[in-house]
Amino acid sequence: MVISKKLEKALNGQIAAEMWSANLYTSMSFFCAKEGFGGFGSWLKKQAAEETEHAHMMADFLIQRGGTAKVSKIDEVPGSWKTLSDMFKAVYEHECRVSEMINKLLDMAVADKDKASEDFFWQFVREQVEEEATASDIVSKIEKFGETALFQLDAKFGERQ
Ligand code: MG
Repeated sequence: MVISKKLEKALNGQIAAEMWSANLYTSMSFFCAKEGFGGFGSWLKKQAAEETEHAHMMADFLIQRGGTAKVSKIDEVPGSWKTLSDMFKAVYEHECRVSEMINKLLDMAVADKDKASEDFFWQFVREQVEEEATASDIVSKIEKFGETALFQLDAKFGERQ
């Protein structure tokens, strides 16, 4: 069953959003590195690579389903934040927006009675639970423990392989 034109268009929009996310996290990694938080910087670089991987997974799926994947214009991303805490709040808010977008795609697949697309989007629904929880945990630790949390988390996040 070939994917619907409507879902193809929406999926291409999501591919652009994932690429925008990759740029956002790359920009945040530069910001952290400049601010002396190399651990967060390296973690964010890996987050960025994951977002690029999401875009590629979506493109591969779209092509397998008889659609056409494209790279659209990617809007500019912010380059600086007032504090690291503000930056992580922005991460959390961004991930919540991504979750809404994924949920909408899933709703569209349901409306299309497109089971393969439903199944495909569910993995991203699950992925978003983890993404939101990680960001929200960083924000609440910074709020509770301030600077101390920042230094400890920076060391911990720098260990990610
Ligand atoms: Mg993603």
